[in-house]
Amino acid sequence: METIRHLIDGDEVDSRDGATFESVDPWTRQPWARVALGGAADAARAVTAARRAFDSGPWPRMGFAERGAILHRFADLIEAHTGELAMADTRDMGKPITDATTKDVPRTAQNYRFFADHARLAIAEALPMDTGHHAYTRYEPAGVAAAIAPCNFPLMLESWKVAPALAWGNTVVLKPAEDTPVSASIMARLAVEAGLPPGVLNVLHGFGPDSAGAALTADPRVDRITFTGESGTGRTIAAAAAANLTPVSLELGGKGANLVFDDAELAGAVDWSIRAIFTNAGQVCLAGSRLYVQRGVYEEFLARFVAAAEALVLGDPKDPATQLGPLASLTHYRKVRGYVDAVEAHGGKIATGGLVEDGSWRVRPTVVTDAPPDAPVRREEIFGPVVTVTPFDDEAEAVAGANDSPYGLNAMVFTENLSRAHRVAAALRAGTIWANCFFVRDLRAPFGGVGDSGVGREGGNFSREFFTEPKAVVMALRAR
Ligand code: NAD
Repeated sequence: METIRHLIDGDEVDSRDGATFESVDPWTRQPWARVALGGAADAARAVTAARRAFDSGPWPRMGFAERGAILHRFADLIEAHTGELAMADTRDMGKPITDATTKDVPRTAQNYRFFADHARLAIAEALPMDTGHHAYTRYEPAGVAAAIAPCNFPLMLESWKVAPALAWGNTVVLKPAEDTPVSASIMARLAVEAGLPPGVLNVLHGFGPDSAGAALTADPRVDRITFTGESGTGRTIAAAAAANLTPVSLELGGKGANLVFDDAELAGAVDWSIRAIFTNAGQVCLAGSRLYVQRGVYEEFLARFVAAAEALVLGDPKDPATQLGPLASLTHYRKVRGYVDAVEAHGGKIATGGLVEDGSWRVRPTVVTDAPPDAPVRREEIFGPVVTVTPFDDEAEAVAGANDSPYGLNAMVFTENLSRAHRVAAALRAGTIWANCFFVRDLRAPFGGVGDSGVGREGGNFSREFFTEPKAVVMALRAR
């Protein structure tokens, strides 16, 4: 068994009361790591360390180039430890090792590099005023950031928060998801090795309610809360943040609509639609879980889509050939199972897929047709490999169907008609629209959701706005 402790003030420490919990490998269904279970006292200790590092340590006072050099060294170390980091996420949550190795870890390193360079090269506004004054903006670090992360892309999603927070001179307390604690601790050791001063990046393990997560969000010494996770959790965290008027950024759930028009390049549309829902066994906030297909290609698309879904390889996530592993935890498997079990009772049909009835936490790529608009499988975030396919007749009907959701994180449109692609992109109510592609991200672009999918945006200048206190300085230009 691995032993995972908190990293506070540069040291690996146990919880004050010695409490621990186990991280279970969802493939073997056996515990594989024993993890320090943080409570209020540990959260307070981590915030104290981050506070001291911010208030009197070198990090916020360093030049961008010096901070950037440390973050680049950190990225180098992440790349050098790709195998170990990837295996930690694979064992913690069942992510296929090929995805972890070729996508999650390299993107994590890229994120640290990007935000280090972005901060160094950022331009601040200067405003020559008609009144004989000159105004300019200073982007000053906000302070201590609490980053609370989900279980589906552990390292990578943590880096979307930690990298900009650090690059802009903040100190951080990161609380990884309880299902995926291990890679964060490995990463934290690498941060120390890269030269981050003590207290700049602290990793606190534990659960949410009545545990490390809730204690962090209630601490008035925290200046920013950045959260990615379920919409319900987001509501709880927003309420906790409101008590201290702490600015909060919420990246929440999704129910992505995926529109395939008659004129789409069909092979590409099938391929992207498969990736959009079955990557990471559907445990993706951006999953294209509601497919809408124009009637002229509906039958052909469905036949090809079902065949491609059936060809995906389910198996041991440690096997490089595996495309779908088990679901991240038993609790989550039971939730997904509940949706699959209820499909027919709500009027839907399973075209392919269903549960693997062997005691494992596996669900086959599952394609549901004929689900009515109000069926839970069509309305609620399942966060598993389950997609509904619905025919439509025209553009207006497709857009109305896509927008009929409390979520608004992302949507996809597949068409060869350029005007339609732009028209539909403008009409869809979501934070990101992908036309003839999926999951392509430029870190300068805004990322976030509308409605139940979140509050605020991450990426480039959007992350700068969140992790800094912009300050206006107005100078009088005297004649002498
Ligand atoms: P979750 O909400 O169960 O947990 C996320 C984190 O919040 C964990 O670290 C957990 O310990 C913590 N937490 C739970 N209750 C808390 C509380 N009361 N106070 C403080 N912290 C608390 O989410 P999950 O199951 O880990 O992740 C899946 C969800 O995340 C899905 O809804 C998915 O769509 C969403 N997600 C969104 C994005 C995005 O960018 N919008 C990205 C990935 C995942």
